[in-house]
Amino acid sequence: MDRDAKRPVWPADRISAISGIMTIASFLGIGWLPDLTAPLALFAMALGIVTLLAFAAGNDLRTYGTHVLPLRWGTLERAQDGSTWLTDPVAACPWCPKDRPGVMHVERSPSGPQWVCANSPNHHDGFDGTQLPTLPTDKSEVS
Ligand SMILES: [Zn+2]
Repeated sequence: MDRDAKRPVWPADRISAISGIMTIASFLGIGWLPDLTAPLALFAMALGIVTLLAFAAGNDLRTYGTHVLPLRWGTLERAQDGSTWLTDPVAACPWCPKDRPGVMHVERSPSGPQWVCANSPNHHDGFDGTQLPTLPTDKSEVS
């Protein structure tokens, strides 16, 4: 198991703070504008979706230490020092035959992040970020 790519993002607590500020900002924004035109409504909707995603990410990072982003954008992981990393964890599937090796990626599921095999959706296992090599706590180690 290892990660294809990794880079630090923000501490999870900061994600929560941003989502809180955006919620307040969008609330005030709607209050100030008596006539919401379509672009503004769309903008507010997009802001709402981003707020929800950020909130979900903060929530998952606290619960699981991991948040799988939609559209295969990657996986947010929380390091020991509380910093958040955008990673792409990969692993060899333990159920696939040796002559047809399967690559596992992390996907979201109702019970939290899961390893899912690219060859068969029946090959899956609970994902635990702590089983992966530790994320460097010193950001200067990132190459
Ligand atoms: Zn497999």
